[in-house]
Amino acid sequence: MFSRMHLVYLPLLAVSSATSDVPGIPTMCACTQLYDTYPGKVLLTTSANYTAETESYWDVRADLHPACIFQPDTADEVADAIKLLSSNDVQFAIRGGGHMNFPGSNNIDGGVLITLSKFTEYTVNNDTIEVGPGMTWYDVYEALEPYGRAAIGGRLKTIGVPGLTLIGGVHYFINKYGYAMDNVVNYDVVLGNGTQVKANRISHPDLFWALKGGANNFGLVTKFTLKTYHIPQISTTIQLYNESYIKDFIKATCELASLDDPEPIAAGAVITVQYNATTKVVGASILGVQAGVSNPPSQFTNFSTIPGEIKINNVTTLQQWASGLDTPKQMFRVMFSHKAIFPNTDRLYEIYQTWKEAVDQISDVQGLFPTFVMNTAPAGAARVALTNGVGNVWGLKAEPAVWWQFSTGWDLASDDLRITSWSRQLTENLHRVNEELGLARDHVYMGDAGEWQNPFDSFPEASVDRMRTIRAAYDPSGTFSRLNWGGFKLGY
Ligand SMILES: Cc1cc2nc3c(=O)[nH]c(=O)nc-3n(C[C@H](O)[C@H](O)[C@H](O)COP(=O)(O)OP(=O)(O)OC[C@H]3O[C@@H](n4cnc5c(N)ncnc54)[C@H](O)[C@@H]3O)c2cc1C
Repeated sequence: MFSRMHLVYLPLLAVSSATSDVPGIPTMCACTQLYDTYPGKVLLTTSANYTAETESYWDVRADLHPACIFQPDTADEVADAIKLLSSNDVQFAIRGGGHMNFPGSNNIDGGVLITLSKFTEYTVNNDTIEVGPGMTWYDVYEALEPYGRAAIGGRLKTIGVPGLTLIGGVHYFINKYGYAMDNVVNYDVVLGNGTQVKANRISHPDLFWALKGGANNFGLVTKFTLKTYHIPQISTTIQLYNESYIKDFIKATCELASLDDPEPIAAGAVITVQYNATTKVVGASILGVQAGVSNPPSQFTNFSTIPGEIKINNVTTLQQWASGLDTPKQMFRVMFSHKAIFPNTDRLYEIYQTWKEAVDQISDVQGLFPTFVMNTAPAGAARVALTNGVGNVWGLKAEPAVWWQFSTGWDLASDDLRITSWSRQLTENLHRVNEELGLARDHVYMGDAGEWQNPFDSFPEASVDRMRTIRAAYDPSGTFSRLNWGGFKLGY
């Protein structure tokens, strides 16, 4: 409960609220209590760094106006804050790397924002690394570089460790090592009542399982312990193609997704098609990465044989490679929409063509930046969870898929509804045809999905039921459902 002395700060908060979302009394009391207990770790709306923190997001749409921002750097401080917020019914949001483009998932109007950017401590062990949730994947690769080891995390530089790991995590090497979540051996977690637990194979194994893809539904993770692998060098390829070769490019993508060697070479890619609706120019690109020093990388031969404008092969390290792949904050407003399909060149080519025609229909949108992304989800990636004795909440069969996604950027808030509706209808219609053709796969990945999608609907029912049982046991008062409500939630 709040003491009377904290009320001394209330006028400051009330006057300084920069938004119409005026915080309620419990929120203002929580802010003043945190401010009083942790001097220098709470930003009020009048604080110098407040605005910079509220804009520390990839998607401009995620810039909201919390009543205050708490910046803890120990698990005890997090536990103290969660206990305070929970016992006083105060709404809050948590931010790791700030890349989830789902407004409200990682920020909040009028509530308390907990940022984790000060959790940057790490410990490198023989075959694991313990990492704080304030680290980006680049930080992790940099920490492991002197040891010649790699972790299974994000493909680009600045994505946060916590958000990506809690939703699954697509790395280049999933075909051999599984998703990022399959490589976590321990989570340090603060539960909804402020209790701190370790979740691993031995301690709280049910929570350990639920955190493997269950997102922000169970607690706040203050440390991840990740497996590492001896991968001192990687072989990379950057290839660009023009529109004449899009079908070949899609065919090579389907072939990459379908590779299923019993002893796979770890390899994967970032595969995108861009279309400029003003100039009508289409460009496709692959950023391919393979473990080892084979130059050119052997797993991308099907791409290399396609005539392309640019083909650059190199042997480097994961840290060096990631250093060039920044995704700066405040890029634009952006809507993701995605579904999964069995690898099928003809149908994916039709999807590409329909997308391009649909982009032409919104070409007047200011700052339009449309991208068609294909993420390969090979059978081997799913097989890891099927055979490691732990599993994950996805329950995927060992079958290949291509996760196709429309990532659409634009400038103005006045176009928000238009783009959301456009992207959603396009995706749903294309997926419905895929279903009719027997080509659709049900899985929806939170990292590629729009806020209009419910990825939990695509998980096996037994997984969702089990997650709800685990949530009821670990968070009976619903702190991470009622109070931390943003993002992809399990629901009721
Ligand atoms: C440009 C770009 C590139 C991407 N590339 C990849 C990729 O290569 N592979 C891939 O798998 N995904 C990728 N993604 C998707 C990405 O994994 C998700 O956006 C992910 O949520 C980002 O993690 P974050 O820590 O930056 O997110 P945040 O936005 O900080 O957090 C995401 C969610 O997790 C919650 N959360 C954060 N930290 C914690 C914590 N410690 N405990 C509990 N809940 C927490 C937040 O409240 C929020 O709901 C990409 C996204 C973008 C925008």
